[in-house]
Amino acid sequence: MGDAVEWDETEREWMLALQTYEAAHVCPVCGMDIDFCHDEATVRQVFQRSDVTTCFVGEMREKSMRAFAESGEVVAPNSQTTKLIATTE
Ligand SMILES: [Zn+2]
Repeated sequence: MGDAVEWDETEREWMLALQTYEAAHVCPVCGMDIDFCHDEATVRQVFQRSDVTTCFVGEMREKSMRAFAESGEVVAPNSQTTKLIATTE
């Protein structure tokens, strides 16, 4: 209770529909529709090559986890996550 989000019936139906859609269509690796990204011939036809770019939020999270791991014992390496802390001025 307390801070629980109260959704009406329509909102619950939309969320369930979204979950159903994502479970059936959204690739957990790349986020694209699996009908596309799991079709090797189509992917190779559409994209001729790829480049490496950097997500700097992801980089920041990696640095935090590396510093945390180096500072002591990591108990649950696949369950620990990072929290972005906004700059306050
Ligand atoms: Zn994919």
